[in-house]
Amino acid sequence: YNMISERMKPYVNNNSAIRAMFEEGNRLKALYGEDKVFDFSIGNPNVPAPDCVQETIIDLVKNMDPVVLHGYMNNAGFEDVRQSIAESLNRRFGTNFAAKNLIMTVGAASGLNITFKALLNPGDEVIVFAPYFLEYGAYVKNYDGVLVEVSPDTSTFQPNLEEFKSKINEKTKAVIVNNPHNPTGVVYSEDTIKKLAAILEEKEKEVGHPIYLISDEPYRELAYDGVEVPYLTKYYKDTIVGYSYSKSLSLPGERIGYVVIPDELDGSDEVIQAATIANRILGSVNAPSLIQKVVGRCVDAAVNVEYYDRNRKTLYEGLTKLGFECVKPQGAFYLFVKSPTKDEKEFVEAAKKYNILMVAGSSFACPGYVRLSYCVSYESIQNSLPEFAKLAKELF
Ligand code: PLP
Repeated sequence: YNMISERMKPYVNNNSAIRAMFEEGNRLKALYGEDKVFDFSIGNPNVPAPDCVQETIIDLVKNMDPVVLHGYMNNAGFEDVRQSIAESLNRRFGTNFAAKNLIMTVGAASGLNITFKALLNPGDEVIVFAPYFLEYGAYVKNYDGVLVEVSPDTSTFQPNLEEFKSKINEKTKAVIVNNPHNPTGVVYSEDTIKKLAAILEEKEKEVGHPIYLISDEPYRELAYDGVEVPYLTKYYKDTIVGYSYSKSLSLPGERIGYVVIPDELDGSDEVIQAATIANRILGSVNAPSLIQKVVGRCVDAAVNVEYYDRNRKTLYEGLTKLGFECVKPQGAFYLFVKSPTKDEKEFVEAAKKYNILMVAGSSFACPGYVRLSYCVSYESIQNSLPEFAKLAKELF
């Protein structure tokens, strides 16, 4: 007798592997000391949330009617919060959103889930560009959709548009892009986005139905060198934006984000209604109320991006000097390094000997590479470099 769902078994097994890695990190930290272990494995922001967050929480708790502050609201979220975010987006990106175009969500993860719940019929295909955040596969499967992978262009890690074009067919319902990108740190350029939009417009006509572009953007505010991160609703009308404050305000545990469904989108009203109801019936009901109010008031606040930038430069320069190969990242807080060994898992294992923890590229559907998260202390970056030097000596 199956105590748990057959569908859950692969996830349970995979989770044990993730937990094993986490426990290995803890074991090394207990053995050698917290500061002697260079844990580049998780994307948990180390830069604190801006002051506005704490000040607003205190002010709300002290001064707002607790019945309203902690109460249920529309499943889409507080109207004033959605209005304030819509206005902020319109100011920054020249868009024309109203409160009704936004649904507050329990982070980007939940935003993607309500979007897929709203859009997908069994067998509908969702295209994704490798490497990618592997949870996308689980989210699409939650609604019996089929994830279709486009192979990576490892020279630039911009999306492989020729292959993309060949994978679109009548079953294609949506495409996910993630910009700035986890795990490579690459920012998709305006030129890339224009080409992608042109392909989608042509293919929508060919297949005779909308193909939704889902822009997953939890790293939008983490961009360096003054690079522009294009706002995709301006390039392609059938775009849904999924945003999160997990990284932009360092609030991953608070679970807060939103989805934007513009008026221009084909079937906009219906999709907004479906996604709003999805929030309720998937069990989130609504995004947490207190933190909704906080982000609504902190629309102009930002984390200290320079901290990540210094880490990025130091780690990138340090590693490339040692002979490691890597595309220079311009966003997020990740570095995607080419493995000097054929099987990158050997690289991951070899690094552990120097107390360096990193994630195999096969966890992002891109073997042959490893991901380093540089959302760690600057000292940790500095102190890791001599260890990377020993690792390089062993492997090159
Ligand atoms: N999408 C990408 C690309 C991510 O890297 C993450 C988290 O790391 C998420 C979505 C989920 O973010 P959230 O914490 O907002 O649910």
